[in-house]
Amino acid sequence: MLAEVSKNVFLHASQNKALNKAAKKWGLRFGAAQVVAGDTIEHAIKKVRELNEKGLVCTLDHLGEFVSSKEEAIEATQYNVRTLEAMGQAGVTCNLSVKMTQLGLDIDRSFCVENMRRILETAKKYDNFVRIDMEDYAHCQMTLDILRELRKTFDNVGTVIQAYLFRAEQDVKELKGIPLRLVKGAYQESPTVAFQDKAQIDENYMRIIEEHLLSGTYTAIASHDHNIIAKVKEFAHKNNIPRTQFEFQMLYGFRTDMQLSLAKEGYTMRVYVPFGNDWFGYFMRRLAERPQNVAFALKGFFSK
Ligand code: FAD
Repeated sequence: MLAEVSKNVFLHASQNKALNKAAKKWGLRFGAAQVVAGDTIEHAIKKVRELNEKGLVCTLDHLGEFVSSKEEAIEATQYNVRTLEAMGQAGVTCNLSVKMTQLGLDIDRSFCVENMRRILETAKKYDNFVRIDMEDYAHCQMTLDILRELRKTFDNVGTVIQAYLFRAEQDVKELKGIPLRLVKGAYQESPTVAFQDKAQIDENYMRIIEEHLLSGTYTAIASHDHNIIAKVKEFAHKNNIPRTQFEFQMLYGFRTDMQLSLAKEGYTMRVYVPFGNDWFGYFMRRLAERPQNVAFALKGFFSK
């Protein structure tokens, strides 16, 4: 009950425009620096290099919420282009994750697709890959439609499927051949479109992971759940799925010991590294996911 209340409080805070805007001026606070890798490209690349040296590969995410004008979307696009260039020049092992609302999806669909094309062209130049993060259900169909459109020209783009959605299994079947990141799902969705029960979500999660792995397509399993990770390892072993066909992904600052031990065991372990001054919404969503995370937020709050 208490966990549900705190989840709702944090999810509401994550959607509060005024708080998000104010937080941009605060600098990283409340322990956010433990899960956000600094506010500039330079800071982020430095962290990525450190992680690479430990045997971890990365994906960078330039944080950005509530883009409501074309100017903001162009700025975000340019920032993503610069991030790809900086990664290429630094020679780090890292790809890029982007959210299409940041590129103007809610403003003008074709303008957003053009922005995405610019990012993908830059990625292509550096032989790099771009993952379109999946946002809330309202954007799901649009995201998948745009992905299909982009895949006609670009083979260096993939997206994310959320196991809590009833449609997930069908989507995974239809997207066979396209590299996918599979997750449980981070947003609050209606019971008309999504499982609400943890056991059902976990069950559907394993179902779509197995489906995608068996299809022979490259699969990223993005989870901090040790039970899921153990099941994936066992399933891959039993079904002779080579380790080159999948990777594990976790968020920067979460289960660091497990990240390192998976890399030591020889699995590809990719760390999702968010950065930028628009950190508040991301941080609130992480607190909503796992009330235990509040402990380090409070620690950060009192140590300021
Ligand atoms: P949970 O169901 O949160 O946890 C299961 C169990 O694992 C817990 O009960 C606990 O025993 C253990 N556990 C979990 N976390 C910890 C911890 N920090 N320390 C110790 N034990 C722990 N969601 C989207 O909707 N769209 C996206 O594009 C997206 N991209 C993502 C990218 C990455 C790399 C990752 C890791 C997640 C992403 N997510 C995304 C979020 C995802 O959907 C889940 O909300 C989030 O990962 C929480 O689910 P989980 O699988 O980690 O495990």
